[in-house]
Amino acid sequence: MNTPDILVIGGGIAGLSAAAALSAQARVTVLEAEEQIGYHSSGRSATMVHYALGDRLVRALTLASRPFFDNPPGEFSDVPLGHRMPVLVHAREDEREALDRLDAEISLFARLDRLDAAGVHELCPLLKPDALYGIADFNGTRLDPHALLQGNLGQLRHAGGELRTNARVSRIERQGGAWVVTTEQGDAFAAPLLVNAAGSWADRVAALAGVRPLGLEPKRRTIITFDAPAGTDLDSLPFAKTIGDELYFAPESGRLFASPMDEVPSDPCDAQPDEYEVALAAYRMEERTTVQVRQIHSKWAGLRTFTPDKHPAAGFAPDAEGFFWLAGQGGFGLQTSPAMAAITASLILGQSWPISDVAAEALSPARFTAQHA
Ligand SMILES: Cc1cc2nc3c(=O)[nH]c(=O)nc-3n(C[C@H](O)[C@H](O)[C@H](O)COP(=O)(O)OP(=O)(O)OC[C@H]3O[C@@H](n4cnc5c(N)ncnc54)[C@H](O)[C@@H]3O)c2cc1C
Repeated sequence: MNTPDILVIGGGIAGLSAAAALSAQARVTVLEAEEQIGYHSSGRSATMVHYALGDRLVRALTLASRPFFDNPPGEFSDVPLGHRMPVLVHAREDEREALDRLDAEISLFARLDRLDAAGVHELCPLLKPDALYGIADFNGTRLDPHALLQGNLGQLRHAGGELRTNARVSRIERQGGAWVVTTEQGDAFAAPLLVNAAGSWADRVAALAGVRPLGLEPKRRTIITFDAPAGTDLDSLPFAKTIGDELYFAPESGRLFASPMDEVPSDPCDAQPDEYEVALAAYRMEERTTVQVRQIHSKWAGLRTFTPDKHPAAGFAPDAEGFFWLAGQGGFGLQTSPAMAAITASLILGQSWPISDVAAEALSPARFTAQHA
């Protein structure tokens, strides 16, 4: 039997970044159900670091994560974790007040440029003329999720940690002060500490261990890619988002990608795009921009998993010794992963608290489990 100090269930960005941070002081094994890391949500995202989603707590976690993306630890390869891509949030006349409110909220965290209609169209010439107002963060970052996942894996392995793929956990028991975990293949692992970073499946993993669920809600989001109009300078385009949650688009590998920002409730699964949301993405792209979506080149969907208050959960389960929740990263799990990993290491290893703007209680799973008792 494999007996590390800490077992992590889930080889997405949450599990791998936490495992990398923990491995500096503990022997860590990550168990991932799929053949590849990042196969589910972490490999299907829009890969942006920006402040136009979530609330103050999510923005604080994002801000605290930024230095990591710009200066990753030495064990990461030399591949940059991302590149600068401006973030533009645009509004029509009737959406101006909402833009003002977002401006005030984001300005606490990032330097924003306020744009008039000319500025909006200079930054994003594809928008229709009714995009009259904008706020731009020229310091936005587009992440390379492969480099981020592999970098964390490299750090874990450098410290002597281990990743097991094709290792779907199907049984979890507490025996003599240890969590004994068995995979579908029959391999057994035991450790005093278990980190539940199973993404959309985190409540199901908790149920295997007899731990009360948080009430997580996976929601599907869809992305399509298609050709930009001939002559479009893709390199200079921003990540452009409507002030309401209707549409975002950005350059993607020589084309454009767009999402209708759908949030369709789903069971945990290998999410697939639905034709309605695919058509909606194309429709909204044509509604808000001058682009004609003649042919959809590719499409995919992924799950964004939320806790009931839409803040992530990081902390020990109040009802089970040695069971640590790391779940509910919603639509911001990549951009907050360094901060969440540092918080996990702090709580498990007893290190000093890493982020003064965020209280441990705000992330504690205890805020939900009482409701499900
Ligand atoms: C369309 C879309 C756009 C997004 N855009 C952004 C963005 O721009 N910026 C951003 O920061 N975030 C974005 N996100 C959100 C981000 O992708 C997620 O928050 C993040 O990937 C969640 O990471 P995770 O590790 O918790 O989940 P996952 O990546 O899903 O990892 C969980 C892993 O647990 C494994 N697992 C489950 N059950 C078991 C078991 N029983 N045994 C073993 N392993 C198990 C699964 O196989 C899976 O690999 C987006 C998401 C989507 C879908």
